[in-house]
Amino acid sequence: MTRVALVTGGTRGIGAAISKALKAAGYKVAASYAGNDSAAEKFKNETGIPVYKWDVSSFDACAEGVKKVEAELGPVDVLVNNAGITRDGAFHKMTLEQWNAVINTNLGSLFNMTRQVIEGMRTRKFGRIVNISSINGQKGQFGQVNYSAAKAGDIGFTKALALENARGGITVNVICPGYINTEMVQAVPKDVLDKAILPLIPCNRLGEAEEIARAVVFLAGDDAGYITGSTLTINGGQYMV
Ligand code: NDP
Repeated sequence: MTRVALVTGGTRGIGAAISKALKAAGYKVAASYAGNDSAAEKFKNETGIPVYKWDVSSFDACAEGVKKVEAELGPVDVLVNNAGITRDGAFHKMTLEQWNAVINTNLGSLFNMTRQVIEGMRTRKFGRIVNISSINGQKGQFGQVNYSAAKAGDIGFTKALALENARGGITVNVICPGYINTEMVQAVPKDVLDKAILPLIPCNRLGEAEEIARAVVFLAGDDAGYITGSTLTINGGQYMV
């Protein structure tokens, strides 16, 4: 039977590449997003993947959203917690709003989303949860105390949840991308990229969203059933853990 995959933030950037790769691998895919309707509409028209709008930082919105996806596509077998934001600033100037927005979207969302699907996965004795963290959750980043804390939290979440569900056919893993060639990174001026960023990356190039997507497809598959609680670092050698 065709498995159902739900990708949060699946309409743009890394998430869009993940949604497309899962579809190409034979999954029935649902892509969620927060508010950029025109990007979501364009993505839907180009890929044929249905899109769903809700805020992953709200538990109630996630409950309602997942219910809708499951009513239309079937129970979620693969959950990719990809949606994320940044609200950067030095900690001594960081506002509570910046802190809460990043913690709730990048870490709270893992509770809000995973809680909706975990009981069904446990009953069916199969599930794949892949969380998208960041290199900055592993090494810390200037101006990103909120983001680094949330992304490090994603790693702890992954390990504990993997332990609780390892016997039940459910794997939980986390991917930590480095600099990926998305709109966000393309906005960085070329000389900053060439002089300040690329010299830090032994592979001497940015990563492509498809390189993260291929890892997600692998972790979602039956062949990866013995990989759980694992942190997959994909950063061109920039930070070796
Ligand atoms: P983008 O900004 O390109 O896309 C983010 C996606 O998440 C969009 O679909 C957006 O929806 C959605 N989203 C954001 N906030 C919410 C919310 N509250 N509820 C629901 N959906 C939401 O991000 P990237 O592709 O760059 O990043 C994807 C993930 O990878 C993030 O977790 C990020 O932290 C992580 N990452 C990215 C790196 C990079 O180099 N780009 C490096 C390391 C990690 P909408 O379109 O409606 O705004």
